[in-house]
Amino acid sequence: MGLDDANTGGPGECPGHEFVLSGIQLRARGASMTQQCRYCGAVSYTPSRQD
Ligand SMILES: [Zn+2]
Repeated sequence: MGLDDANTGGPGECPGHEFVLSGIQLRARGASMTQQCRYCGAVSYTPSRQD
């Protein structure tokens, strides 16, 4: 058991999110990134500044 509340995939499927860059969006405020876990496919969105 763990306290990893960031686990959005199936329990036991992912040994720990390992995000890889899957996309970059160019916006007026700068570039934001979308990353996806290579194991379970969980998506992490990282805005460049505020969003
Ligand atoms: Zn994962």
